[in-house]
Amino acid sequence: MKTKLLGYLLAIVYLSLSATVVAQDLGPKFKKVRDGIFVYTDALNEANCTIIMTQEGVVLIDTGQSPKDSHVVAAALKKLTNQPVRYIIHTEPHSDHVLGDFLFAPPALVVAHAGATASMKQAGLDSPGFVEKRTAASAELRNAFKGYRMVAPQIEYRDKMTLNVGERTLELYYLKNVHSEADTAIWLPKERIVFTAASVTVKRFGNHRTFVSIPDTLSGIKMMKSFNPEVVIPGHGDPGTVKILDDMEKYYGNLMDGVRQLVKQGKSLDEIKKELKIAGTEDWAGKDRIPNNIEAAYRAVVGK
Ligand SMILES: [Zn+2]
Repeated sequence: MKTKLLGYLLAIVYLSLSATVVAQDLGPKFKKVRDGIFVYTDALNEANCTIIMTQEGVVLIDTGQSPKDSHVVAAALKKLTNQPVRYIIHTEPHSDHVLGDFLFAPPALVVAHAGATASMKQAGLDSPGFVEKRTAASAELRNAFKGYRMVAPQIEYRDKMTLNVGERTLELYYLKNVHSEADTAIWLPKERIVFTAASVTVKRFGNHRTFVSIPDTLSGIKMMKSFNPEVVIPGHGDPGTVKILDDMEKYYGNLMDGVRQLVKQGKSLDEIKKELKIAGTEDWAGKDRIPNNIEAAYRAVVGK
């Protein structure tokens, strides 16, 4: 009995030591959020790429800001495992999340919400001259794009999908009208991790295109909070706790209240853009996006 217990304890020590060594080996740009789960970002607010190891191969959540980052992730994977990337899940189809797919697919299969391929084509990710345009300024980028091709997602789900890979379960949920044409939240129920896509930001204003709906975004945040996550990994910005979701909910609440009050006073959209100040956002990045945030709130308030 005693030997068994000792063996068990040694196994725990070994496992925790090996996990620590692995996290340090990958370098400071990788943050370990759980055993076998690492978030990579080069610079603050660039798109995150997360490695999820499983007993049956790797799942990537997005492939990094550019293929330069995807190469860094590929090198890290070589240190971690000799298993291939089996799936790439896109939180959104914009170029800063998907351009490195070609390094892993095949054998990886790309999973995204319906509308992702159309969005990628619309943005010209498969157009002639795309690589030349993207890499004109940098020999390093030209190198990183060698062999580039747009990988159209092989699997486009609708509304909800569950992916079981090895010991892990990943639940995919469509987030409607939050940022792009095909945004996906991903929930890992055992690990209690939620990936929010670009539906929330961290001390930074989101870019609200004309179809973005703040009420829909608030419903998405409510759904993700209902999972009761311990770790929240946004599309951009540092991973954290549920506070990321709370802060964003508060921001949108204040934004909507502020716009509603000024509309009641008979102010025009232009006047609201000049007058509205939202407490607590003084140190946020992306201030050039405040006007499109106000426009989104205005659409919701006046019902257009
Ligand atoms: Zn985007």
